[in-house]
Amino acid sequence: MLQEAAPLEVKDLHVEFRTRAGVANAVNGVSFRVDQGETLAILGESGCGKSVTAQAVMGILESPPAAITGGQILYRGTDLLTLPADERRHHRANNIAMIFQDALSALNPVFTVGYQLGELFRVHRGLSRKDAKARAIEMLDLVKIPAAKQRVSDFPHQFSGGMRQRVMIAMALALDPDVLIADEPTTALDVTVQAQIMKLLAELRDERKMSLVLITHDMGVVADVADKISVMYAGRVVEHAPVFDIYARPSHPYTKALLESIPRLDRKGQDLAVIGGLPPALTNIPPGCPFNPRCAYARDVCRQDPPPPEYAVAVQHTSACHFWKEVREGE
Ligand code: SF4
Repeated sequence: MLQEAAPLEVKDLHVEFRTRAGVANAVNGVSFRVDQGETLAILGESGCGKSVTAQAVMGILESPPAAITGGQILYRGTDLLTLPADERRHHRANNIAMIFQDALSALNPVFTVGYQLGELFRVHRGLSRKDAKARAIEMLDLVKIPAAKQRVSDFPHQFSGGMRQRVMIAMALALDPDVLIADEPTTALDVTVQAQIMKLLAELRDERKMSLVLITHDMGVVADVADKISVMYAGRVVEHAPVFDIYARPSHPYTKALLESIPRLDRKGQDLAVIGGLPPALTNIPPGCPFNPRCAYARDVCRQDPPPPEYAVAVQHTSACHFWKEVREGE
């Protein structure tokens, strides 16, 4: 039976940056699919290629130095990479939206949030100034900003970090997108506000049946929100699984190390595990498995032969590790 086209599917995406220091291979064959109403978390340390993947999907990579050298980015079956710039912009405005991690720099400091929100309705929906302002107030209400009628005339600096992130969510949702990409949406916030923002995103996803791609380095924030997780390392997806399976039976040494580095109540008093070493420079990814210099399971074969990208570990669970069975059974 033919599978219905997903709101977002990325196939074998390759992105490189041509720099003076050489070619940085930032994304090396990334694939994923997000169905309607589903949440995919893309997880990994800084520099693993997760934000570059998101920017490639949005079509906002600066080129040069960035170049998409292969793959497909499909919105409901249409490859966005084959579209002319104006059609691509249409999709960006109406169908796929993004929230950035730094709300303060993403908002324009010299205009009120009402003006910035209202402009979306004026430009893309042709509303009058008055109607656009009314819609802006509705959107601030939607993201639970108290006293929205008054706050619509405030400037970004008059909002707290958490409230500013709510404004960013309102702007991203203004044109009712199918797919929302949230790039580290809670990184700059304290833990309580983080939880509130994640709860809000989950509620809005469910109300609007949106697909959500959550980009994060923090395994702790995804457990309650995501349906499935893709773990990235050195520009590759190294493990992909439904969220409960990845927490219960991680099958790649990197995922396992990430999980062991999360504080847990049942391990009170024990030192947190750290992953030794640093991610490789993307201009100089080691031969074989890119994780081998940091991997406790590495053997000679790992330094020579890159593992195939998708060993099937279980239903909808893949790992890019020669020794995934050992890792999985050791749990
Ligand atoms: Fe570690 Fe080898 Fe698996 Fe890579 S292939 S993650 S180096 S055990």
